Amino acid sequence: MKEGIHPQYGKSTVRCACGETFETKSVKPNLNVDICSTCHPFYTGRQKLVDTGGRVDKFKKRMEQK
Ligand SMILES: [Zn+2]
Repeated sequence: MKEGIHPQYGKSTVRCACGETFETKSVKPNLNVDICSTCHPFYTGRQKLVDTGGRVDKFKKRMEQK
């Protein structure tokens, strides 16, 4: 294996859109993500998604009645 042709695989700081940062291992020193384990609906509870879905359904039914 020649030296210098492989990217360095080391510590990487991941920054989420919610402000959460955590470290992982990657060839990139810095990563940006839109969602992480802290703000992901699966971990925070799916209430938000369920609520939004219900509102959309109600809105659609209202439109159909008119
Ligand atoms: Zn996040």
